[in-house]
Amino acid sequence: MKIVIIGASAAGISAAKTIKSTKPDTEIVIISKEDRIHSRCMLHKFLGHERDAQGISFVNEDFFEKNNITLLNNTTVIGLEPDKKIVKTHDNQDISYDKLLIATGASYFIPPIPGLRESKNVYGFRDLKDAQLLDTECLTAKNAVVIGAGLVGMDAVAALLERGLKVTVIEMTADIMSLQLDKKSAQAYQQLFEKEGAEFILNDKVVSVDVNAVGRGEMVHLASGKAVPADVIVIAAGVRPAFRFVEESEIKTNHAILVGDDLQTNINGIYAAGDVNGIAGIWPNAMKQGKIAALNMLGENLRYDDRYALKNTMNFYGLTTLSLGNINPEDEEKCDIFTREDRNNYQKIVIRNGIIQGVIMQGNINGSGFWQYLIKNKIDVSGINKDIFDLSFADFYGINQENGEYNYAV
Ligand SMILES: Cc1cc2nc3c(=O)[nH]c(=O)nc-3n(C[C@H](O)[C@H](O)[C@H](O)COP(=O)(O)OP(=O)(O)OC[C@H]3O[C@@H](n4cnc5c(N)ncnc54)[C@H](O)[C@@H]3O)c2cc1C
Repeated sequence: MKIVIIGASAAGISAAKTIKSTKPDTEIVIISKEDRIHSRCMLHKFLGHERDAQGISFVNEDFFEKNNITLLNNTTVIGLEPDKKIVKTHDNQDISYDKLLIATGASYFIPPIPGLRESKNVYGFRDLKDAQLLDTECLTAKNAVVIGAGLVGMDAVAALLERGLKVTVIEMTADIMSLQLDKKSAQAYQQLFEKEGAEFILNDKVVSVDVNAVGRGEMVHLASGKAVPADVIVIAAGVRPAFRFVEESEIKTNHAILVGDDLQTNINGIYAAGDVNGIAGIWPNAMKQGKIAALNMLGENLRYDDRYALKNTMNFYGLTTLSLGNINPEDEEKCDIFTREDRNNYQKIVIRNGIIQGVIMQGNINGSGFWQYLIKNKIDVSGINKDIFDLSFADFYGINQENGEYNYAV
């Protein structure tokens, strides 16, 4: 059997590894538009000169050769013909398959703001290529503007500060990393970044960019009337699943490629795993999906039920935070919110109708698996008469007073 995988990242490589360890004689062709394999989660280490390109690769250099996998790198898929079982590439190759895995992830989005798309010095922060281009800019740039203070934006900020640039961060919401953090935990990071020299302009947005005679953006104008000089601009204002090449096929999509619980698309034999199916935009889930799709392509009938995406860990300047679930519920007045803090730690738990909705652990993140279990399995904690922060699995075991049976409430 010949399996073609489009995309050589978390989902694609995990699928290839699974196939080779399950049925080693399966022929695998991986098509990737990038030059080399790398972890996006470590791009900031490359840009900050902490690691080189090989240092952020998550496979050994001989991975493909050793596993007898054909890698077509620097090759972009531009179309599919599912009835002929053919993938079409930018350089006019028609590559046949028996089963196909689409693992093309997502790409960054540049909002249609006057001057922004036209400026030559505007970069995303998604691929090694972006980081390499930014690396070159850092040789001469003095002022950087980062648009968007989500996790990706803050990775870029950390690296640009490391390179000695003056960095201004522009964010529409009132706090940085507002999807992952609440005000208090966000401010802890903001202060650390400010100590390193970053400037934050919050509750504001870019309305236009002045482009100079050589096509480079040099002044970023904000809705508030402020103007910020920029030698280089990083855009980190969201991503879109990358599936343009399926648009003329019959594969069903909405904002992402639609898949069933088995990660198969509406076309038999074509699967989609990772960010491209929009189920969960984080690395471990992409890997898990790659594995499940691979096993299903080999004939298993496994379900992917981990639609629990909201788990984030971060570490900037030695401060670690884990956030799980919904930590900023819209209906806050219907929730019970508990916080606990000391000099080095901050914890928050959000409970609605006895069920934990979200948890933040900043500082010490030990025991986070327990909270993840409670959230994912919607365990009712309302009957437990104890400080919520002191709960453990032991609190869910007990002996039925009537018949002596052990009860397991989780
Ligand atoms: C800066 C940054 C930091 C991050 N930090 C974290 C983190 O700390 N923790 C975490 O869990 N997640 C993090 N993420 C998210 C995580 O990287 C993604 O969830 C994960 O990479 C998704 O893997 P994937 O295999 O689905 O897709 P991707 O990693 O996006 O890979 C898709 C691959 O397909 C290729 N491709 C796309 N279109 C085509 C085409 N038409 N033809 C050929 N090849 C194509 C792409 O070039 C790419 O190599 C981060 C992301 C970024 C950008």
